[in-house]
Amino acid sequence: MIRLDSQLIKNYLNLKNEIAELSQKYSRNPNEIKLIAVSKTFPSADILECFEKGQRDFGENWAQELREKSSELNLEGLMWHFIGSIQTNKLKYIVPCSHMIHSVCRVQEVIEIDKRAYSLGKVQNILIEVNVSGEESKSGISINQAQDFIENAIKYPNIKVCGLMTMAPNTSNTECISSVFSSLRKLRDTLLLKYPDIKELSMGMSGDYNLAIENGSTMLRIGSKIFGSRIYT
Ligand SMILES: *Cc1c(COP(=O)(O)O)cnc(C)c1O
Repeated sequence: MIRLDSQLIKNYLNLKNEIAELSQKYSRNPNEIKLIAVSKTFPSADILECFEKGQRDFGENWAQELREKSSELNLEGLMWHFIGSIQTNKLKYIVPCSHMIHSVCRVQEVIEIDKRAYSLGKVQNILIEVNVSGEESKSGISINQAQDFIENAIKYPNIKVCGLMTMAPNTSNTECISSVFSSLRKLRDTLLLKYPDIKELSMGMSGDYNLAIENGSTMLRIGSKIFGSRIYT
C-alpha cells in the first residue's frame, strides 16, 4: 500500500532539498550544515514522523517539555538540543536529556551544567549565546565579552564548548541580518585560532536560513518551516 506523505513530511523533504541546493550555491560542504528540527509546542507524534524520515536532531525551548518528550521518545540516535533561555534551577532536567545546550550565557549556568554533568558522568556539549546586535530584548554575551567568557568556561572539565549561537534581529532588512551572521562567524574564526574545539555556528531559523548558510552556519534551527505555525497555550 502506498502511504501519501503528510504535509509535515513534504515540508521536511522540501527543506532538505533546499538546504542541499543552497549549500551548493554557496560552496558549502553539506555535511557541515546540520539541520535541527525545532519541535517546541508540537507533539511527539510529529517528531516521530520526522525521525522516521531520517531526522535525528531536534530542538526544544522549555525544560519541562524537553523532559516529557525525551521520556516519551526513547529512540536510539535521537539527539536533543536545548535552545531556549536557561533557568539555572531547571538545568537538572535539561542536562540529563541534552546532546547540546545552545544558549549558555551566564557563569552561573556554566557552573551548574558542569556540576550536573559531573554527577551524570558525562561531558556536556554547549554553545555560547552571543547577542551580536546588542538589542536589549535579547540574551547573550556581547562580542567583547566572548574571549573572557570562553577562557573561563573551558576550564570546567565536564563541559565542552563547541561553538557559538546567535539569533538574528527580527527585521526584514537582509543586510542587517547578514551582518549579524557574518560578525558571529568572524568571532568564531578568531576564537578558533586559540580554541580548536570552537567550530560550530548555530544560526539561521525559518525566515533567514539562506543568509545563515551563506555566512557559514553549521547548525540551522528550523521549526515552523517544517512543523507549521505554532500555537502557544
Ligand atoms: C523557536 C526557535 C527557533 C525556530 O524558529 P522558526 O522561526 O520556527 O524556525 C530557532 N531558534 C530559537 C532559539 C527558537 O526559540
